[in-house]
Amino acid sequence: AISVQNLVKRFGTSTVLEAINLTIPAGQVSCLIGPSGSGKSTLLRCLAFLEEASEGMITVNGEALGFFENSRGERERLPLAQIRRVRSQIGMVFQQFNLWPHMTALGNVAEALKTVHKAPKAEAEERALAQLTKVGLANRAGHYPSQLSGGQQQRVAIARALALQPKIMLFDEPTSALDPELTGEVLNVMRDLATEGMTMVVVSHEIGFAATVAQQISFLDQGRILFAGAPGHVFAKPRHPRLEQFLDTYL
Ligand code: ATP
Ligand code: MG
Repeated sequence: AISVQNLVKRFGTSTVLEAINLTIPAGQVSCLIGPSGSGKSTLLRCLAFLEEASEGMITVNGEALGFFENSRGERERLPLAQIRRVRSQIGMVFQQFNLWPHMTALGNVAEALKTVHKAPKAEAEERALAQLTKVGLANRAGHYPSQLSGGQQQRVAIARALALQPKIMLFDEPTSALDPELTGEVLNVMRDLATEGMTMVVVSHEIGFAATVAQQISFLDQGRILFAGAPGHVFAKPRHPRLEQFLDTYL
């Protein structure tokens, strides 16, 4: 499970996230939707501790991520080793796949295992191949990113994140850089992952995916969660005018 309490994020004098409260129980999928600039990526980056929240607390399976409240009730930063340990439970996939161009698909996945898990080469490659098999790319293991389609590259990026055995996976618009015909293969991998019980937070404009895979939808608007709930509830008519406006723009 991942839980966010009263999270605020400021960049200088501008507040981009305000009063964010969100809990994703273990094994559930939560989708974040909302207009451009509403703070979706920033929230995800805070959950991955790629950004430090300005206020509030995040817990990952009951453990504080980054900050905790000390005995005087003050917000205090945790030691780096502990931050690293809690953060290692979280995997993230971005819109841009960020693969190493000079490494094969297998090399890209194995590299993470060698550097982060200190796995020996043979073991890293064996585990990497197992992950590539899982995303349907065993027969592309020796291909370089330039020899792979966008959908295949994104599946390599997913395999790379999964190889590190995260408890929670964060996805930031994983299909929005893809041609429509390649979107499905990536969504299918994510659907399988959800079925296996992975806890996931997904930013996506794929409303069909959100409606069928997520247990929870949160609609962000101007840095706040305007409303949240089960898909059947959030998408039922009559809809909130801001959601209606958003769906008109993105569908
Ligand atoms: P999109 O749908 O376009 O990806 P988003 O919902 O992911 O949008 P964010 O990228 O989280 O939105 O941005 C939220 C707000 O925070 C925006 O106004 C953006 O300009 C601002 N912002 C994001 N990162 C920074 C930064 N590093 N410094 C200053 N402002 C930032
Ligand atoms: Mg974004």
